[in-house]
This record gives sequence, C-alpha cells and structure tokens, in this order.
Amino acid sequence: MEANTLKELYVDHLRDIYSAENQITKALPKMAKKAGSEELKQAFEEHLRQTENQISRLEQIFGSLEKNPRGKKCIGMEGLIDEGKEIMSEKMKAEVMDAALIAAAQKVEHYEIAAYGTVRAYAELLGEQQAVDLLEQTLEEESAADEKLTGIAASTINVKALNGERLEEAA
Ligand code: FE
Ligand code: ZN
Ligand code: FE
Repeated sequence: MEANTLKELYVDHLRDIYSAENQITKALPKMAKKAGSEELKQAFEEHLRQTENQISRLEQIFGSLEKNPRGKKCIGMEGLIDEGKEIMSEKMKAEVMDAALIAAAQKVEHYEIAAYGTVRAYAELLGEQQAVDLLEQTLEEESAADEKLTGIAASTINVKALNGERLEEAA
C-alpha cells in the first residue's frame, strides 16, 4: 500500500473492512451449523443477514468515492477466522463448544468495532457525511451483535458449560 493522505488511508481501511466482511459471510454459516443452541444459531444467522447489508453499505460508499472495493485482504480477520476454524475442529461438549464459538465471534465483533470506529472518524474529518451515517449504522449493528452474544453467554451458554464441568468433576 502507498498512502500519502488521510483520504488514501481511508480508502485502504475501507478495502480492508470490505475483505473482512466478505470473509465473515463465509464463516458465519459454518458457525451457525456448529452451534448447538438454537438461540445462538439464530443469532449467527441474523448477523449473517446484517453482514450482507453491511457489505452493501460499503459498496455504496465505494460507489460514491468511485473506487473499487476489492484489492486488499484483511489478514487480521483471516487470523481470527482461522482460530474459529481451529476451535470448530476440536472435540468439545456441545455447551463448551457454544461458549467457545461465542468467544470467537466476539473477537470478530470487537475487531470490526475498532475498524469501523477508525473509518467513521476518518469520514468525519474528510466531510463524507453520507459515509459517516452509513458507517454509524453498521457500527451500531456490530455493537448490538456483540451485546447480544454477551447476553446469550451470560444467561445460558456459559452457565451450561460451567455446570457441565461441575457434573464431570462430580462423576
Ligand atoms: Fe460486520
Ligand atoms: Zn484488517
Ligand atoms: Fe459483525
């Protein structure tokens, strides 16, 4: 990458997120399939639909910038997804696997929240108001997805995983 202005850095970061989102659309169906809890499965499926919409928002931004969204691979997201694949290949009790899937998904959400926060700040400085609005909508969805996962973990999954451990210890 060569970037001499904030605008160039902005486009570069948008391409990185575009790649990240596309990788996520491939990972989420696998995570939904692997999830044992129906609530978690539905949360992944719902976030897949949101992610597809987030990709459309990015395409809208690239359209107004008259730039190609492709050309960059998000290595950070590739790493997070590789970790997710590793988790899914391991042998775990269903409840523990669900807790591990939530942990992996929340790392993805936090990465996205950081990345979208950065590009939203750049868009504000660059006076790209339409992009600011679109990025803000996505940022809110990512935060809500993250909070939803925290809720599922705290209310059921982590508790079930905890109880599973205890039962095994007692046996
Ligand atoms: Fe996203
Ligand atoms: Zn990246
Ligand atoms: Fe997300």
